[in-house]
Amino acid sequence: MNKFLVDERNRTGDFWNRYKDSSLSDYYQELSNGNFHVTGETRHLKMNHTWNYYKDTVYYNGFLTEIYQRLGADTTIHWEKFDLWSRNDAGDNYVFAKDKYLDMMGIFIRDLVGVDFTIATGNPGYVPLFGPNDYVIHASGIDTVKIGNDRDKYGSGFVVKGTQGPLGFYRSLGIAIHEYGHYLFAGGHSTSGIMTSNGGISINDLYMSGYEKYKLGLLDSLTVNFNQSTSYPIRDISGRNGSSQSPDFPQILRVPITSTDYFIIENRRKISSWDVYMLGDTSRIDPFRQTGDYGKGIYIYHSNNIGIDYTGNVDMECADGLWNWSNYGYENPDWTNADTVQVKLRYSLPAIINNDPGTLYFNNYANADGISAGPWFSIGKNMLQSD
Ligand SMILES: [Zn+2]
Repeated sequence: MNKFLVDERNRTGDFWNRYKDSSLSDYYQELSNGNFHVTGETRHLKMNHTWNYYKDTVYYNGFLTEIYQRLGADTTIHWEKFDLWSRNDAGDNYVFAKDKYLDMMGIFIRDLVGVDFTIATGNPGYVPLFGPNDYVIHASGIDTVKIGNDRDKYGSGFVVKGTQGPLGFYRSLGIAIHEYGHYLFAGGHSTSGIMTSNGGISINDLYMSGYEKYKLGLLDSLTVNFNQSTSYPIRDISGRNGSSQSPDFPQILRVPITSTDYFIIENRRKISSWDVYMLGDTSRIDPFRQTGDYGKGIYIYHSNNIGIDYTGNVDMECADGLWNWSNYGYENPDWTNADTVQVKLRYSLPAIINNDPGTLYFNNYANADGISAGPWFSIGKNMLQSD
């Protein structure tokens, strides 16, 4: 638990060495080029009653109320530290000023003991917190900290659940990044990046899609000018080499196509340990597994909305083009023998070459490149097998 949110940091030196590796604090610091600090404290609670007591007697609100009461009574938590930000609607941004609402809390339900009585039954997580609204978790003089139960500017949290047995660290990490992402972006899901909906860990791309990073606006980006012939160098997406904030040497290149379409180009060299682009199931077991040069390269994303509202169609362009996909039975993925996934193989070339993912949004296996077809698995090899 203590690896998740870190309060301690190096206040000098490189941003990628500020927080403990593999923590969420390190993750957001690296993803933002050193701009975004996510810190915090963790507490472990063992509930006072049986699972069925909450399910049958006091329900979800009673479950959360006990958590809030016990956290509120914990005098080692300095609640005023956890309300630092508020929304400035006029400026359309967040400002460093209290709004009397807890900034953010993640509740991790380690395991479902029986029937899921929480929200979004069967899903590995959700936002917002739901449950009691405006619960006063701390009051001292004029200082009040409340919990907002909606996904709005006052919203105070997200929930992660052990829907596949007790939560492990990596699964918790992947779900938390996704659920918190619903505050950064919106309620919908996409075909690339952390806002995919592939069952709880962002197997698609832990390091966010180019579009997601661009949308957050925390990296150096540059828009290509077609009116002149110019070379455009881009440095590694980690931002570790090349001078910071150099407009001539960006991490993200934006290439306009029409007034509503553009490409985003990024250079992924796997310099950061978070930059571990992998397809398939390996990352569910160990997202930091060493995979050598696999996944390194230039990545091209295509967005065909105006780039303001998440999610429009945002897909990744594959070098081997568009295909029709066909079903070849079911197989056990690496991460569980209790579950199966459909095996998809490239079948034929589409008759009409249109931009994927075609007229349907998700999992349209006609006329799609591999990444835009949703989760797919071709014939491969279990990573635990030796040659
Ligand atoms: Zn989601």
